[in-house]
Amino acid sequence: MEKREKEGNIASKINATGKMNRSVQIVTNSIETAEGDGFVVHRSFPSRSIRNIDPFLLLDEMGPLVLLPHEEKGFPDHPHRGFVTVTYMLEGRFEHKDSQGNSGMLGPGDVQWMTAGSGLVHSEMPEKELSKSGGTLHGFQLWINLRKNDKWIRPDYQDVPSTKIPIVNTPDGKVSIKVIAGNYLNTKAVIRTLTPILYLHFTLQPGGEVVPPVPENYNAFAYVISGNGLFGKDNVIGDKKNLIVFKNDGNYTSIRVPENAQSSLDLLLIAGVPLNEPIVQYGPFVMNTQEEIDNTLEDYRNGRIGKIQT
Ligand code: FE
Repeated sequence: MEKREKEGNIASKINATGKMNRSVQIVTNSIETAEGDGFVVHRSFPSRSIRNIDPFLLLDEMGPLVLLPHEEKGFPDHPHRGFVTVTYMLEGRFEHKDSQGNSGMLGPGDVQWMTAGSGLVHSEMPEKELSKSGGTLHGFQLWINLRKNDKWIRPDYQDVPSTKIPIVNTPDGKVSIKVIAGNYLNTKAVIRTLTPILYLHFTLQPGGEVVPPVPENYNAFAYVISGNGLFGKDNVIGDKKNLIVFKNDGNYTSIRVPENAQSSLDLLLIAGVPLNEPIVQYGPFVMNTQEEIDNTLEDYRNGRIGKIQT
């Protein structure tokens, strides 16, 4: 791939107007791990080098996992308390059930923004038809921390079908942007968030370039789903399954794919205002103190976080 071709690109032009392009702090690889009942995920963080990216606690690429007929793998009954889980499906269908009697289906392009708040127990399993005949599951799960007071709010779901997610295309037709949370220029997402969050899915064709605004006080990172491209002020190369963490040294970033690239680039750009609060985590429980974790474990043992009725 052609690299560091800084001259004449949009990024340097905007620089001249006084705005600052963010530089890249670190590029890491996601690591394959087994979750749930053996479902393979590619975890970009937490990792040895990155504990969290406040307010974000975890990003997993689920699969892509090819299920054989009658092979059932997923995330059976488990609890959450104190944060938000965001599931974004790319391929295949997941069926969701919880201890409050909610259930639903998530298909390609759909997003479930689940505020676990004070807590619930849920399961996320491949839909029955897919388990029967086999197929591919591919998607993302992001964990977003909640502020101290928001940890005790009632659990809340925003199930958003792909058709409701706004898509922006650049005038040259080389870039499309799905606005999952926050906004891209004048296009606003339909999902509501408790603290400011940006969640964008970009697809760039060869020769495509974007300079998405990312306020300086947001912590920001990108995750490459497929292809490769050049990121930030120094045109750092980001490849498939790379996590690219940006420094807080600018109010936009740049992403581009050289004209002669062999394939398009698909990536997530995720950013949010840090909470700057203490984090005490025990698996699927994220609180501010050890005492709150101890109480949560006690609540869970005594069935106070809930149970899925079968
Ligand atoms: Fe879960």
